[in-house]
Amino acid sequence: MEFTCIMCPVGCTLNVTKQGENIIVKGNGCPRGEIYGKNEITLPKRMITTIKKYKGATISLKTSEAIDKTLINNVLKEIDKVEEPKKINIGDILIKNIFNTNVDIIVTNINYENN
Ligand code: SF4
Repeated sequence: MEFTCIMCPVGCTLNVTKQGENIIVKGNGCPRGEIYGKNEITLPKRMITTIKKYKGATISLKTSEAIDKTLINNVLKEIDKVEEPKKINIGDILIKNIFNTNVDIIVTNINYENN
């Protein structure tokens, strides 16, 4: 299978094949591409970035690490359910260890409507 590595802007074309128990990755310009290629055919993961609107602000959020691609919709629904915190700062964890993945949902930016 062929994938484009998305771990850096170079975008190497990876050729990933299974040979018995082994997964062979070719075309990667660095070791990160090998890990990415292996994950893509076993357990594809993605970073999630999104925004959430509260009464007075738009909060930018991201996952602390890449998360199982099949969980993306459920993660977004879970973020939607979170009620407005009394106080929120950049770097705060909005949801800790979401779905027991050891991945947190982190506040990366806050835009207040009055600014
Ligand atoms: S294999 Fe390495 S150099 Fe190539 S796109 Fe992925 S991270 Fe970048």
